[in-house]
Parts: sequence; C-alpha cells; structure tokens
Amino acid sequence: MPRPILATVHPEALEHNLNQARVRAPDARVWAVVKANAYGHGIERVFPALRSADGFAMIDLAEAERLRALDWRGPLLLLEGVFEPRDLELCSRLNIWHAVHCTEQIDWLAAHKTHAPHRVFLKLNSGMNRLGFRPEAFRAAWARLNALPQVEEISLMTHFSDADGPRGIAHQVAAFEAATADLPGERSLCNSAAILRHAQSPLRGVGVSTLAADWVREGIALYGGAPDHPEHTAAGWGLKPTMSLTTKVIGVQSLQPGDTVGYGSAFTADVPMRVGVIACGYADGYPRHAPTGTPVLVSGVRTRTVGRVSMDMIAVDLAPLDAAGVPAGIGSEVVLWGVSPSTGAELPVDEVARSAGTISYELLCAVAPRVPFADPA
Ligand SMILES: *Cc1c(COP(=O)(O)O)cnc(C)c1O
Repeated sequence: MPRPILATVHPEALEHNLNQARVRAPDARVWAVVKANAYGHGIERVFPALRSADGFAMIDLAEAERLRALDWRGPLLLLEGVFEPRDLELCSRLNIWHAVHCTEQIDWLAAHKTHAPHRVFLKLNSGMNRLGFRPEAFRAAWARLNALPQVEEISLMTHFSDADGPRGIAHQVAAFEAATADLPGERSLCNSAAILRHAQSPLRGVGVSTLAADWVREGIALYGGAPDHPEHTAAGWGLKPTMSLTTKVIGVQSLQPGDTVGYGSAFTADVPMRVGVIACGYADGYPRHAPTGTPVLVSGVRTRTVGRVSMDMIAVDLAPLDAAGVPAGIGSEVVLWGVSPSTGAELPVDEVARSAGTISYELLCAVAPRVPFADPA
C-alpha cells in the first residue's frame, strides 16, 4: 500500500471562486493565473473547472503549451514575457500574448521574423520596482512597439505591491493613469487582493472602469486563499478551499510528563497524553518551520502539531479527541489543510500558513512531487 498521504482538488470550489471574481469585477475579463502549475494544483487538473475563464496567464512557455495541448484556443498571456528571442517563435506559432517589460524584449521583437503579428502587454513599473518600464520611459517604449510590424496590438498593464495591505493601490493607480492617459489599448491592473479589496471602491478621480477593466488577473483567490489573511478570511471573502491535503495516523504514543517528542526534543509533555504520528513531513511540502501548535484536523476534530516536523512524519496531539471521546488511533483520518472528507470540517490553508510564518501561496505551490493527487471525482 502506498503512503496514505493524498492531495485532492475540488473542481466545484474552483468554479465557485471564479464566479466570485465575476461578481466582484463584473465588467472585466478574468485571466485565471495558472503559474507554478496552477499554484500547485496541476494545470490539467484545474482546467476543466476554469474553462469559463476568459484567458489563462502564466510565467512559463511550457505551461502555455500545456493549455494549447488541452485544446484551449482562447487567450494565453506570459506575465513576464519572453526570456530569450527564440521564445518569440513559439509565441507566434501558438498565438501566445506576452508582457513586454524591458528594452531588450522590444529589441528581440524588432529582430524577430514573425509568422503572425504579436499581441503584447506593455508593463509599467508604477512603483513596485520589480518588472516594467518607469513612467518616464513608458511612452517611448509604447511608440517603439507601435511602429513595429511584428506587433499587432498593445495592451497596458501594471502590478500592485500593496493591494493586500494598508498602503493600498492609490499611488500606483495614479502613476498608471498619468503614464497611460492618452494611450489606446486594453488595461490590466488587478490581482486577487485588488479585485477583492479595491475593485468596487472607486478611488478619488479613478473610475471603477479603469481599475477593474479590461482584464483582471486572479490567482490565489481562485485557489481559495485570502490574499489579506488574517485581516480577512477566505470564507469571509466567499471563497471555498480548492485543495485538501490529507493523510492518516500511522503510529500512536502514550506520553508521561517529562517525555519529549521528535528531533531536538522540541516538545515536552507536562501531563499524560497520547500523540498520533501522521504520514506527512517536509518532504511532502509541509513547512518544516511549522511550530508546535500548528492546527491540524484528526477525525474532523481540530488539534495541533507537537514537536518538530520531520521529513516523513509529524506528531499531533490526540488529547482534544480523547477528551471529547472521539476515537483516534492507527488509520484515523488527518487533514493538513482543506476539507475533511468524512465530516466536512474545514481547516483553512491560510491558518496553517500563518502558523508557519508564511502564506497560503507557498504551501499550495510546495506540495511535493511524491504526493499523489486523487483522481477527479
Ligand atoms: C501571480 C500574479 C498575479 C496573481 O496574483 P494573486 O495575488 O495570486 O492574485 C497577477 N499578476 C501578476 C503579474 C502575477 O505575477
């Protein structure tokens, strides 16, 4: 028998979360962001549930090819554009749109002998200082692209650094407005946090139409994570968990006061208690930094991890189950995050991430290759 660890993707939750984006940004077309193998879910696994998206956005050309192999004929967008000139060949052949964020990418286009003219998303660095042209260089980049026979259509995009937090987006929206005011072309600004927190609240001097049109780029909210946890929860945003990571109890120990658990003896029992040992560890993608107290569901009951996460195992506190008279032993169901198949109880991935000092994005993307996924229901 294989190890009992299993990841399950919930297609109906993906559909539901996509519909939530439609409710919040009704005038926009939605890019379903499927970079990092659909945030760890698997592009092929999420595709049937997300096929009503208006397009798919990713980083890697190979992921774009996988969407075409699934017979997706609609828009595809490379969010970082091409990494070398020969990538343009595949973009022409498979009709993949691509971001243009630096002068070199324009040089490559100018030298490219294209089959078909390209649609590009010219990226403004409106303050994040990661990718994009600075405002004073934006217009010249646009004019240069506009003069190229290789370019058919230019859209305009930028990315927010603080849509999830107190600084907000107003300063970046203002920079975008100023740099693009009289330029034609479709716009794309919002990520999940901006869709959830800002798309419906017009900023001073900026219409909803500018912000949430023409394309929004939704990632984590599709996958049931709250980008601004713990200020908001996924459930509070009306989002459903799209992935469950489950396993089983494979060992049980009865501890006496003073007994320790695991490497480094990082946990010491102060009362008699039972701990379960579960088949999940950091080699499955579970965060090694998750401290004692990280939430976990055993038989649908919320309890905590104890001691250090090891490569293949984690110990969990069975005392809450014993106190409640819930039987627990070898074979008991464990939910690391997501939904309990037996009781429907939920453990938000955001809570596990927070306990481990990270974000849901990282946990979802980090599910390791050795973890099998359940066949679609
Ligand atoms: C990843 C990414 C997104 C999606 O971000 P979420 O916070 O997951 O919604 C949007 N735009 C760009 C450019 C990205 O790289």
